Amino acid sequence: MGSSTLHIDLGALAQNWRVLDAKSAANVETAAVVKADGYGTGAGKAARALARAGAKTFFVAAAEEGIDVRNAVGPSPRVCVFSGHMAGDTDMIADMQLIPMLNSLDQITRHFELLPKHPFGVQLDTGMNRLGLEANEWDAVRDLVMAANPVLIMSHLACADEPDHPMNAQQLAEFHKMTDGLDVPRALSATGGILLGPDYHFDLTRPGIGLYGGLPFEDAAPVVRVECPVIQIRDVPAGETVGYGNTWTAEVPSRVATVSAGYADGITRQISNKSVLFDGDTPCPLIGRVSMDLITVDVTHLDQTPRSLDLLCAHQTVDDLAEIGGTIGYEILTSLGRRYNRRYRT
Ligand SMILES: *Cc1c(COP(=O)(O)O)cnc(C)c1O
Repeated sequence: MGSSTLHIDLGALAQNWRVLDAKSAANVETAAVVKADGYGTGAGKAARALARAGAKTFFVAAAEEGIDVRNAVGPSPRVCVFSGHMAGDTDMIADMQLIPMLNSLDQITRHFELLPKHPFGVQLDTGMNRLGLEANEWDAVRDLVMAANPVLIMSHLACADEPDHPMNAQQLAEFHKMTDGLDVPRALSATGGILLGPDYHFDLTRPGIGLYGGLPFEDAAPVVRVECPVIQIRDVPAGETVGYGNTWTAEVPSRVATVSAGYADGITRQISNKSVLFDGDTPCPLIGRVSMDLITVDVTHLDQTPRSLDLLCAHQTVDDLAEIGGTIGYEILTSLGRRYNRRYRT
C-alpha cells in the first residue's frame, strides 16, 4: 500500500449528472461523455453509475474505448464514438454495437459500404475546424445521408466556457443553418453549452467535465480525492534545504513529511513550491520540487503526525490545482496515472 489512493465518489458523479440534466427541458436527453477512461475515473465504473442515474447515451473518443463501456452498461444504452468510423474499426463497431459519428466523406463512404443498416450519426463542423463535415460537403451529401436515417447530428462549440464569446452565437447560427428543417435529433452542447442556456440544448446534450466535478460547472460536487500516504517524517534544521535543486530552504527548524505521489502519477511539477496538501481541513505547504514518486510537505504547524495528506479534496479541487499548475482541470483529471489504488464509493 505504498502508493496513493484515488477515491472516486460515484454518488457525486451521479448527482452532477442529475443536476446538469435538470438544467435542460424534460424533452432534452442528457447523455454522458466517458472518454479518456471516464476522465481518469474509470470508464466502466463511471458509465455504470451514470446509467443507474438515468443516462441512456454514452460518448467515447475512440472505438476501443467503447468496449469497456459496452461491457459495463450492457446492450441497451447507446455508445457513440466521436472519432467516427475509422479504417480497421469496422468489426469492433459491429461487434460492440457502437454508433460512429461520421466526420468526413471518406467515413460516410466506408460506413455505407461496410456496415449499411448499422446505426450512425454525423458530426458537422460549425467553425472549430477540428472534426466534422464542412458546410459545402454537407450540402453535397445531405440528402443521401438523411435517406439513411442518422440517429443524431452533432457539432461542438469551441468557446462555450466563455459565455460572452461571440463564437458561441456564430456557431449556433451556423448549426441552425446546416440542420434546420431536417427530421433528426440534434446535439450541440457539452458542459459549457448546457450552461449557455436552452437555445443551445437542442435534443441531446453531451456533458463530460461537469460530471467529474470540473469547471465550467461551478456547482459541481467533487468526484475525486487524492490521498497520499506519509512514508517518512524528518526534522530539518534551519538553513538546510529540501529536494532536488535545493529549491526550498528551512527558515526555522521544520518538520517535513515525505508522501508517496509524484509526476509519474500525473502530479505536474509546475506545482512545486506553490501548492498545499491538506491534513483534514488544515493546509500544509508543498515544499521543494515534485519528484517522480515523492512530494515533500511542511507539517511543522501540525500537532500530530498525519498518516496521509490529501492533494485533491473538497478544499482543493482539480481546478484549483490546475490554476496553480498553469493548466485546466481536464488535464489534471486525465493525467492521474495507473499507479493509484482506486477506491470507489457509491
Ligand atoms: C469531450 C467532448 C465533450 C464533453 O466536453 P466537456 O467540456 O468535458 O463537457 C462533448 N462533445 C465532444 C465532441 C467532445 O469532444
